[in-house]
Amino acid sequence: MSVAFQNVSKRFSDGTLALDNLEFEFSKGEFIIFLGPSGSGKTTACRCLAGLEEITSGQALVDGKDITHLPPRERNMSMVFQNYALYSHKIVYENIAYPLRIRKYPRAKIDQMVKDVAKLLQIDHYLGRKPRQLSGGQAQRVAVARALVWQPSICLMDEPLSNLDAILRLQTRTELKRLHEELKCTFVFVTHDQEEAMTLGTRIIVLNHGKLIQFDSPKKIYTEPATRFVAEFIGRPAMNTIEGKISNGRFQSDQLELSIAGRAAGKVVLGIRPEHIVLQREPQIDFIPFTLDVVELVQPDTLLFVKKRRGDPVSVVVRIMEDCSDLSPRDTIYLKFPQSKLHFFDIATGERLP
Ligand code: ADP
Ligand code: MG
Repeated sequence: MSVAFQNVSKRFSDGTLALDNLEFEFSKGEFIIFLGPSGSGKTTACRCLAGLEEITSGQALVDGKDITHLPPRERNMSMVFQNYALYSHKIVYENIAYPLRIRKYPRAKIDQMVKDVAKLLQIDHYLGRKPRQLSGGQAQRVAVARALVWQPSICLMDEPLSNLDAILRLQTRTELKRLHEELKCTFVFVTHDQEEAMTLGTRIIVLNHGKLIQFDSPKKIYTEPATRFVAEFIGRPAMNTIEGKISNGRFQSDQLELSIAGRAAGKVVLGIRPEHIVLQREPQIDFIPFTLDVVELVQPDTLLFVKKRRGDPVSVVVRIMEDCSDLSPRDTIYLKFPQSKLHFFDIATGERLP
């Protein structure tokens, strides 16, 4: 099975262009993530795929067949919403059974399917409760169970973890990953949380302003961000990006000067991840002196905010795994920016430079 969008655009009646020429294709069994900031079109993309929203132009295809005008019920997809909308007057069992009842499954079959999915999601002890007698995490699992019980070919989830507290979020995330491995169902999962995207996704679709910016594996998105936007969106803390120019084999900016081999002259954005900068306490060849501004412990790592000179704005953020308790603000430290870890982006378009 394959699912594809071809030149899909969505304009709402008030003129908002929510999806701008979206193109992608993925296959059965993947865990696809729509990742992007608020308002980037993630929910709209999901709703258009599920048929809950009409697309303005372009085509949605499943196995090469045009489903653009197929009603939601005939798409064999289910959706878990952000607020998980359970039927408050029905017990958990009936909430989960509902999609099977409307599809007129026989009673014994319904019973089996509800119990199986409840067991899988570890809510089999709550089948007799009403939604208000559940914690947020349990209610969320009921919503997922209801979406999965009839074994749709695709399960779409729109920020399903956003109402959970941090610990529960992490647990549910792990559970979703296990569920995906067990069920081999295709998941499409919406999030604005890059960490969630990186840990869950087999591939990630990065959206910004309704446009697809990059569609790649988490690893590729981390190692080869297609644009400056992706580079700054993925990673914590974000990649350092410094605007400057290359001439005579050197990168120059107010904050940083570096020898750069084999790059064309011109204005560029240089990028390096905080975890790829190397620290020394004493001067060494290829290490550049900086003044330490702020030291932040984010156990087990330390973040160092450094400046070129005192009084300058912060030049770069360094993330160090080793113990830095000997360092304090205003110390001089020495940093190396390994050539193999540098990224370059076009200063005007933000596109990655080869
Ligand atoms: P996300 O889920 O990434 O936060 P959405 O898909 O909800 O983004 O929204 C994308 C854009 O479309 C936003 O600018 C939003 O304001 C707009 N939008 C969403 N729904 C509607 C609607 N029903 N009418 C008009 N504009 C909408
Ligand atoms: Mg949304």
